[in-house]
This record gives sequence, structure tokens and C-alpha cells, in this order.
Amino acid sequence: MTRIFSGVKPTGHLTLGNYLGAVRRWTEVDQHAADALFCVVDLHALTVDHDPARVRRLSRQAATLLLAAGLDPALCTVFVQSHVDEHARLSYLLECVATDGEMRRMIQYKEKSVRERARGGSVRLSLLTYPVLMAADILAYGTDDVPVGDDQTQHVELARDLAVRFNQRYGHTFVVPRAVRPQVAARVMSLQDPLAKMGKSEDVGPGIVYLLDEPDAVRKKVARAVTDSGRDVVYDREERPGVANLLEILAACTDGEPEKLAAAYESYGALKRDVAEAVVEVLRPVRERHRELCADPGYLEGVLRAGAERAREVARPRVDAAYRAIGL
Ligand code: ADP
Repeated sequence: MTRIFSGVKPTGHLTLGNYLGAVRRWTEVDQHAADALFCVVDLHALTVDHDPARVRRLSRQAATLLLAAGLDPALCTVFVQSHVDEHARLSYLLECVATDGEMRRMIQYKEKSVRERARGGSVRLSLLTYPVLMAADILAYGTDDVPVGDDQTQHVELARDLAVRFNQRYGHTFVVPRAVRPQVAARVMSLQDPLAKMGKSEDVGPGIVYLLDEPDAVRKKVARAVTDSGRDVVYDREERPGVANLLEILAACTDGEPEKLAAAYESYGALKRDVAEAVVEVLRPVRERHRELCADPGYLEGVLRAGAERAREVARPRVDAAYRAIGL
């Protein structure tokens, strides 16, 4: 059976980008088709300036949202990364296989370290080594497929390289994973800046739609979305990134195709109205289920406890084998 692993960082509230680029596929496809594990990767939230109480709160909120979005603990495993020691244990071994040059070439490291320095802060060593921990997240479970948005494909490539290198040097230990990306909305952009990713970790603002946004908030954000100087609705990611982003969001929400949808619109106003309503409809059941789950915190605790136990059972033998293989 195909093993699937993926995760979200509790660095902010989950966004429409997280949902369309990753989480929706996990709920609709992955959990039904395979042995799937989904994780709130809280150790990754410590790579930048953080408030301990906020990280704890956001971890629970992210787990609740994964269930609200439709992950079913009867079908898949949902857990929190720091509840399973194997991630950190394996990460150290992989640091002994990765090189510092490889880490410095990672696009996210380049972008985020520049941003941290611009804010006058120092860059945590864990920001540099974060992709190794992510490789450990993936490799510990013998993962075949990693369903992620575009921004994570470079990190999954690194996990592949490290698996191959470890296997060559120390004997076959790891499955070599591959990234699986969605056909549309693999990179949802900010509504205010169509050249910037709609990321929960990036900033807060009117360009980002959050999963728990009320319908009117969604309508306002979409109505104010930056479009392009032209007037006709065409799908062109290079020349018309703002409109292309709206078309991709609409396509993802309605199972359509951006090019075909473009032909149905003559004005940006009509397009924006339909995008807003499509997003409101997609988010409605998530918000409703979230409200129900919040009323029963004991349920979440139970899910996460059972999830961590199962995750440990899957990861431990492989991580133990890696310790033996490398000479410990
Ligand atoms: P963020 O960048 O919002 O902090 P995470 O690193 O927690 O996101 O990523 C969770 C999942 O959501 C990953 O699979 C990532 O590729 C996907 N994702 C994040 N932002 C977007 C986006 N704007 N468009 C599509 N997918 C995204």
C-alpha cells in the first residue's frame, strides 16, 4: 500500500493556499487511497522568532482545522511532530549525510534569511537545517508520496537525495519519496501581491484568505484583489498574474480549468464575484465542522494521542535501523 506523509507548520492561521495546494487533496484523495499520515510540524515553527504559547495554540488549531477540513482519524493518522521523538532522532543522522552547501542553496532559506536579517534579527541555525528535519519527517515513515504545494518541491527533492545517498553509503534503509503536486492551485498567490505566495508564515493582511474567514471577510478581500491593467479576462500567469491567480482559485474551487473559465467572463467584476462565492462555499463546511470540534476538546486530544502512538510504531523500526546502519 502506498505510504503518504505530509504536514503543516503552526506558524499562523491556515490559508486558502494551504487548503487548495495541499489539505483538500489529503482529504479527498490521499486518505482514501493509501496509508496516510498527516502531521502538524511544530518543530518547524521554532525556526523563526516565536512565542511559545502561540505556537502551542496554533498547533492545536491546525490539528483541529485538518479534522474540520475532512481528515478522518478512522482512515488516516493525524498527529503532532514533537509528540514523536523519531523525527528529531533521525534528523541528526541526516545532518551527517547532508552538506552545508546543499542547505544554503534552498530557495526558502535564502528568502527567509534575507527577511529575518532585514528585520534586524539573527538567523537561527534551525532555519538553515529545516529541510533536513523535513527529510527526516518524510523518510522516517518509508513514505512513497508527499502531496505538497509547489513551494515544497525543492525540499522533497532534498529528501530524495538524502535517501539515495544514505542507502548507497550505509545500505538500503529508506524508501525514495516523490513530491505530488496538485494540477491547479499548486501556488496560490496573495490577492494583494500576485507575485508573492499566499502563505500563513509570510504576513497578515487583506491579500490572504484564512480558512476561518467569515463569508463577508472573504467577499471583501476578493473584491479588493489586485488585478492587472488590461480589461479582458485571459489566463496568462506571466503577463496577467492577478487575474490568473483568481482564475486558478476559481478552477480549484469548482473543479474547472482556468483557460476555459476565462472564456466565460467579460469583466473582472463578474469574475471576482464568482470567485468570492466559490471560496465561501468551499470554506463553509470547514468553518461549521471547526465550530463543532472546538466544542469537544477531549476528542482532539484523543485523536492526537492515538495518532502519535501509531506514528511512533511506524517510524521507530526504520529509525532504529538507520542508527545501526550508520554505525551506532
Ligand atoms: P506556509 O507557507 O503557509 O507556512 P506550510 O509550510 O505549513 O505553509 O505548508 C503546508 C502545505 O501547504 C504545504 O504542502 C505547502 O506546499 C502548501 N502551501 C503553502 N502555501 C501555499 C500556497 N500559497 N499555494 C499552494 N500551496 C501552498
